[in-house]
Amino acid sequence: MRVRKKPWARPYIEDHQDYIVTDPDSYLGKWQERFVKEQPLHVEIGTGKGQFIIQMAKKYPDVNFIGIELQESVIATALRTFMEEPLPNLQFVLTDGADVDEFFKPHELAKIYLNFSDPWPKTRHEKRRLTSKRFLETYQKVLSEDGTIEFKTDNRGLFEFSLISFNNYPMEFEYVSLDLHNSPENEDNIETEYEHKFSPKGPIYKLIAHFINE
Ligand code: SAM
Repeated sequence: MRVRKKPWARPYIEDHQDYIVTDPDSYLGKWQERFVKEQPLHVEIGTGKGQFIIQMAKKYPDVNFIGIELQESVIATALRTFMEEPLPNLQFVLTDGADVDEFFKPHELAKIYLNFSDPWPKTRHEKRRLTSKRFLETYQKVLSEDGTIEFKTDNRGLFEFSLISFNNYPMEFEYVSLDLHNSPENEDNIETEYEHKFSPKGPIYKLIAHFINE
């Protein structure tokens, strides 16, 4: 998803440095200082316009959330929505989620959310998918021993690819749904903007998995 550059985005981000980080490397080992309370850390990679992570932070005040997004204009929109009702347990980071092991300590995270990640349908772009092996290697470094990845998508091809990628890594599945919105777990589901837009057109797939640590 490429978004038109918004001229207000950069100055808006610079004016709200209390809630957004643009130099994540300088917070290595210091993320808890960005929050009011030290609490388990949950990270969403590809947070988009922030609907999911903002609702999660409201629902779970005992967790510290970080929303990572690559595109300045997109994260600025998330930040603007967030600033209507700021919360002490949510921070945004403008950066590439491929580098999480450069700014989180080993085993620092309790959970990683991947929601409606870009599908990169061409086989030659497989390595860019956020559920491909090279990303899993990075997530394994920063997730705690019992940490989990929660992945949702409407894209059947990406879901099939991800099931194989997670299984081959190897990871263990805790939950798999081929139709989240018609399953009992939907009661606790927090929708993302893409989920809201695309769920009327077909099923939402979800999995939860953890790494197998020897
Ligand atoms: N998660 C949101 C949702 O479900 O509505 C947005 C989904 S959108 C299809 C994917 C988002 O992931 C885009 O905003 C894109 O810029 C972001 N993204 C893609 N690759 C990324 C990466 N390596 N690091 C951080 N964000 C990334």
